[in-house]
Amino acid sequence: MLRDVQGFTVVGPDGRALITTIPDPNTTYSAADRDYFALHRENRNYGLFIGAPIQSRMTGEWVISLSLRLNDANGEFRGVVLATLLIERFVDFYQTIDLGTEGVIGLVKRDGTILARSQLSTESYAVNVSKSPVLRMINDDGVTRGNMVLTAMLDGVRRIYGFDSSAEYPIVVAAAVSEEQALQAWRHRAQQTWGLSGIVLLLFVSMACLIWRALGRQGEMEASLKGMHRDLAEANHALEIIAGEDALTGLATRRRLDEALQAAFSSAATQGQPLSFVLVDVDYFKRFNDQYGHPAGDEALKQVAAVLKRHAKRSADTTARYGGEEMALILPGAESASALAVAERIRADVEALAIANEGSPYANLTLSIGVASCVPGRDMPTPAALVAAADVALYAAKGAGRNRVMLGQNPA
Ligand code: GH3
Ligand code: MG
Ligand code: MG
Repeated sequence: MLRDVQGFTVVGPDGRALITTIPDPNTTYSAADRDYFALHRENRNYGLFIGAPIQSRMTGEWVISLSLRLNDANGEFRGVVLATLLIERFVDFYQTIDLGTEGVIGLVKRDGTILARSQLSTESYAVNVSKSPVLRMINDDGVTRGNMVLTAMLDGVRRIYGFDSSAEYPIVVAAAVSEEQALQAWRHRAQQTWGLSGIVLLLFVSMACLIWRALGRQGEMEASLKGMHRDLAEANHALEIIAGEDALTGLATRRRLDEALQAAFSSAATQGQPLSFVLVDVDYFKRFNDQYGHPAGDEALKQVAAVLKRHAKRSADTTARYGGEEMALILPGAESASALAVAERIRADVEALAIANEGSPYANLTLSIGVASCVPGRDMPTPAALVAAADVALYAAKGAGRNRVMLGQNPA
């Protein structure tokens, strides 16, 4: 598990490393001039950032960094938490895949930054391949995987490429064999097996061979992409736990929501104040993903999260990612009438974004929302009872046709 991770590091607001899991690090340096540091300092809601390869100042190794911003309770910048992945491990792995002497396999960001490549030295990391036809196909034409023949920008060799892009992260794996070597292989095979018995047969064999190779490569790529995904997902998950913040939406994590709800419940119970819990679920979101793709789904979730944050006006209000396409809002001090009003404004604002969702009878992306309110201790015994009441209301909203807000019945 996490075999490609060099370590996790927390960097303070001044750029100095506070804690790291890297053994024997040099911790006297500052990360204040690193791209990821400036990016997170200037952007409250960037989420997960995958950086270009850099030479670690702690160990001198070449690494890819995944980073998240750390905030204090007021949303002020408290530094950055990062996971660093060893490029060497990717390169070693890629080199175990036989693609001939002129074959290459590489991992690039969608913006053209090379993250790891089986050939060439670290100098090639300075090259940006954003104009490569493979990335154009992915970024401009929305193709997620495929094959093409082209001449490489880096070394001028003509190669047959296979590529596959990740649905969750802005990364692409591409593998290629040189066209010359691929052709030699079929010439050789064709001579042995059939001899030069006819140009038609040769053409057929050559095409079959190219297709066969392309398919074989795709299997290898799938395996490498899966491994990369697993490591990214695990590193990302660890970062989220440390930051208490969901990387995609910038909302609080489920865990931090549970803590905040427990605290709000206790304090409202002591003060005899009302407390409301709002549970939001995106309607027909599976259809949205199926039709527009997972990256578009992620974008939509970010937009919904932004609406939620905008309506969490008081400092004690907490917005969180409840799980998947479900989000939640804790409103301390709010009675049912004002909680319903906030929920209705959120629903209306998301509807007004007019994000197309053709699979929905509303033709746009909409929300169903369940609201529950109580005076903790008096009407409800536990935070779990409040959440359950909001959940029941949410399902009633779904059952009544979606794109609406419902209030949970107070059991008392
Ligand atoms: P309903 O109106 O009943 O809520 O239908 P639904 O399709 O929204 O509900 P369902 O639970 O069937 O599907 C939820 C979908 O949300 C499936 C899952 O792939 C998607 N989803 C969950 N988390 C994410 C995410 O982080 N990104 C993207 N793009 N999709 C996600
Ligand atoms: Mg759901
Ligand atoms: Mg849903």
